[in-house]
Amino acid sequence: MLDGDERHLNIRAFSDKMRREAYERQKGKCPSCPPTGANKAKKWTIEEMEADHITPWSKGGKTDSKNCQILCKDCNRRKAGK
Ligand SMILES: [Zn+2]
Repeated sequence: MLDGDERHLNIRAFSDKMRREAYERQKGKCPSCPPTGANKAKKWTIEEMEADHITPWSKGGKTDSKNCQILCKDCNRRKAGK
């Protein structure tokens, strides 16, 4: 993959490495699930989660590990639909 190359920070897709780092940082939890939701305490597998820009890419958020969070697929889909 293209990790660590500044030239690639303007691309939209997170690398597998950034995705894995966010997953480890969050310990498999989804920060976006509603507190009352059944999925809140769930530990997801990395395959069930998708990388997301904390500051949206469309608003100038970079594709780097600091701006990467990982959401469960349900939340990611909900967010994408906004
Ligand atoms: Zn979620």
